[in-house]
Amino acid sequence: MSYDLVVHGGRLVGRDGVVEADLGVVDGRVAAVGHGLEGTRRLAAGGAYVLPGLVDPHVHPIHAETYASASDAALHGGVTTTLHHLYPPSDADPVEFAEAHVLVAAAETRTDFAFHVRLNDLQRTARRIAALADHGHVSVKLFMAYGARGIMVADDELLAALRAASDAGVTVLVHAENGHMCHHLEREARSRGARSLREYYASRPRWIEVDAVERVLRMLRSVPCPTYLVHLTCVESLEAVAAAKLAGLPVIAETCPHYLLLTADEAAPLGARAKMAPPLRGERDRDALWHALRAGILDTVGSDHSAFARSDKEASADVFEAGFGVPGIATMLPLLFDRGVRTGRIGIERLVDCLATTPARRLGLAGRKGSLAVGCDADFVLFDPAATFTLDATSEHGNGYYSLYEGWTGRGCVRAVYLRGRPALEDGRLVSSPGSGQFLRRAAARAASLPA
Ligand SMILES: [Zn+2]
Repeated sequence: MSYDLVVHGGRLVGRDGVVEADLGVVDGRVAAVGHGLEGTRRLAAGGAYVLPGLVDPHVHPIHAETYASASDAALHGGVTTTLHHLYPPSDADPVEFAEAHVLVAAAETRTDFAFHVRLNDLQRTARRIAALADHGHVSVKLFMAYGARGIMVADDELLAALRAASDAGVTVLVHAENGHMCHHLEREARSRGARSLREYYASRPRWIEVDAVERVLRMLRSVPCPTYLVHLTCVESLEAVAAAKLAGLPVIAETCPHYLLLTADEAAPLGARAKMAPPLRGERDRDALWHALRAGILDTVGSDHSAFARSDKEASADVFEAGFGVPGIATMLPLLFDRGVRTGRIGIERLVDCLATTPARRLGLAGRKGSLAVGCDADFVLFDPAATFTLDATSEHGNGYYSLYEGWTGRGCVRAVYLRGRPALEDGRLVSSPGSGQFLRRAAARAASLPA
């Protein structure tokens, strides 16, 4: 058998461990993992890790970022599949809006992609969830916060959405913060004259997150809907998720690189640049997040990448006026490798599981993405664990105009990235063209069942 491409001499990382083997590719898919494979093209891994292309479950191609620029940033970070949050306006039909964006994104992206579609009309939720699923959009997003922006759902709306999604085999992503309390505490803080990042963080205390997390999990006891909790940050949320998992509830839990890398105290000098929701927490929470990642209480890491020009983010001296979100898709892998794997907090196979295999498996891309198993798309990353990096304001690439981690040094660099067997990034330079990424239509899951 002759392969189109053979990657020689790499250390292949999968969720079950690391194996030294060749990777054989035919027609853009992994065709063999073995020894002595021969092919038309030959790529020498030179002892580097060969990771499955990362599947980032949480990307926002908004603010400064377009589909094109977000995919540039993604590839620099070894991400080959991006799951974008799509926000149809309230008067739009979500299916039509999503299908229009499939065309826009497919024309300019360099990563394969899918959408989590925010529901914008909860009166017609059930019909719309089913219609989205029919078109291969099998994950939707709901916010329990952001009442001021008109996107907050009430508990009854959330329950109705969970029921409809459960019937349609759709996964519901939930931003879990008590929106009424966020609003109230923010107003209180501002009336006292609060303006700093520290005061913003203090206006969204942990119990606001924990309250919402616990409310969703309670609903799952009567509705068996696969529910994906985005960006968890603190010990008490992890305890609630651990208990729900023990009870057999279909919950999937995510955290983000910034919660694993920074504390509120460490970020204070960054001001508005480090404004995101939920906020950064303390040392004890950061340690617990790493532990939960290793233990399987957390399932995935999503970048929650949201890029702004620094001047936009810092336009006002009042942090409460700044937009929400931080960049991070391009630095996620090297930083989590350096601060997680090299320090012994987590094994590389578990890190790759959380960054690629599990997000693919839980979001409708099993057997296609997030793994180097035979039959999967040949999306892979050559990752040099010994190469050193120093981050600066350009390290987030795309239109991420600053980094939370400027000046940080470490080891572990993305050397090359391949998408479906074709080079997308070599020696830090993009080599694929805009439009080389494809939309991934996904099949609805079989309805989950409630534990006995
Ligand atoms: Zn987000």
